[in-house]
Amino acid sequence: MHAKTQTEDLQNYLTDASNMPGGSAERLFVPETSEQVAEILREANANGTPVTVSGARTGTVGGAIPFGGTVVSLEKLNAIAIDPENRTATVGPGVVLGDFQKEVERVGRFYPPDPTEWSCQIGGTVATNASGARSFKYGATREYVRGLRIALADGDFLSIRRGEAIAVDSVLRVVTENGRAIDIRVPTYQRPNVRKNVSGYFNSDNLDAIDLFIGSEGTLGVVVEATLSLLEKPKGFFSGIVFFEKAKDLLAFVDEARERSRTPGSDIEAVLLEYFDANSLAFIGEKFPETPSGMAGAIFFEQETTSENEDALLSAWNELLEKHNAAQDASWFTTNEQDLAKMREFRHSLPVSVNERVVKNKQKKIGTDMAVPDDKFEGFLRFYKETLDASGIEYVIFGHIGDAHLHANLLPKTEDEATRSRHIYGRCIAQAIMLGGCVSAEHGIGKLKRKYLAAMMGERYLNEMAEVKRALDPRGILGRGNMFGEGFLTA
Ligand SMILES: Cc1cc2nc3c(=O)[nH]c(=O)nc-3n(C[C@H](O)[C@H](O)[C@H](O)COP(=O)(O)OP(=O)(O)OC[C@H]3O[C@@H](n4cnc5c(N)ncnc54)[C@H](O)[C@@H]3O)c2cc1C
Repeated sequence: MHAKTQTEDLQNYLTDASNMPGGSAERLFVPETSEQVAEILREANANGTPVTVSGARTGTVGGAIPFGGTVVSLEKLNAIAIDPENRTATVGPGVVLGDFQKEVERVGRFYPPDPTEWSCQIGGTVATNASGARSFKYGATREYVRGLRIALADGDFLSIRRGEAIAVDSVLRVVTENGRAIDIRVPTYQRPNVRKNVSGYFNSDNLDAIDLFIGSEGTLGVVVEATLSLLEKPKGFFSGIVFFEKAKDLLAFVDEARERSRTPGSDIEAVLLEYFDANSLAFIGEKFPETPSGMAGAIFFEQETTSENEDALLSAWNELLEKHNAAQDASWFTTNEQDLAKMREFRHSLPVSVNERVVKNKQKKIGTDMAVPDDKFEGFLRFYKETLDASGIEYVIFGHIGDAHLHANLLPKTEDEATRSRHIYGRCIAQAIMLGGCVSAEHGIGKLKRKYLAAMMGERYLNEMAEVKRALDPRGILGRGNMFGEGFLTA
């Protein structure tokens, strides 16, 4: 296969949404078939050349940024085959998520994973186990992956169907398409008791091989095809952005909405519960002047509706909001698709405005992605607010409150504030670990969060992860620098 080596061809492939500097590569391949992917890997493996897999590069932790070697972009492996009857789709890794969702909806089906950045590719979402606002009800990408075809570092393939390769006595045996058996020792760490966690390789009792590859950030193999489950397309949605004057009322509302949503048979069954603190509302207010002022925060919720249950549902939410003193007159509700799109835009405009502000400040955003156990959440939010208020640095806190997972974004204006922001980030990580949480709930570890993964896991468990990697990629060519440093890859 012909490699591209010119600077102008490579340039776009040397960075991602993290803006991590220093990316470099000697070669770029854009294969059109799985066999070509295997060929590239065989040669790289023989020469010990590092291979970085590139999706759409919307990742925020530098996972797709190469530091030398070869980049393989899967953008041309973008076939989509939907089977509406059986509610499955088989897709190439380079399929753009937003395009896939539209195709699926055209045939009356629904693919829920929705990391709000719709330009990402299916391969990238599988490799990061992407989640987002709607994961509150529908779960992360993992829930929808039924089958994967993986090109291994030596160019052999693995075809895995969910349920077909399960660990026995802590050993997972997978058999390649060439008939080679590979035994993988399942890591022994306890996973934190949080709703979302993408910090390190997935493990569990009776680990399913497919789950090991999901979220492995391009370090164990290259996803060349995915078979995904689809749902029936919802008939409609009832949505609201509700404002609260007092933070304590907002939190009590979230607690009850979350609890009832998780109770089988309950009338309240939110798809998402998203939080905006007062600073976030001030930010969004610059683009949406109708945003009420003087509020302690807001919640964006959505619930599926049908024409039969719409009225009952509206009254159930009304009652709940009244009980928790929401500023109902100032709040917005809709069942109409156009207004719903506007509400989603309201939500989306926050990270966009934050990024614009950061560029204007000529600084980098420092954004957290930790999650803590539910019962530690309120304390952790208090810690965020007290620490950030005391710093005097501009900040917003927002995100997936239904899953006890918020993003705090610090927006430094000067070098001194940037240095202090990095220290504050470190303190937030330490606090999350102390509370039994994880260092990354949805964005992954990549290259940027390696030292925090090490702080969470400790050397012993990083070594167990490295043993998994060595079983599948003995020369350590794939996703080099993601999750752990090269020191861990030599036996
Ligand atoms: C504004 C914004 C909002 C975001 N919001 C969310 C959110 O709410 N939730 C969330 O989960 N994420 C979020 N993200 C992060 C990002 O969109 C996801 O991580 C996404 O899944 C990355 O997909 P990608 O195609 O861009 O992958 P890339 O960034 O190109 O790659 C990500 C990792 O996957 C590996 N990889 C890519 N393709 C393959 C493959 N075929 N086989 C093996 N490895 C592969 C890469 O090597 C890399 O390690 C957000 C990003 C932005 C910019």
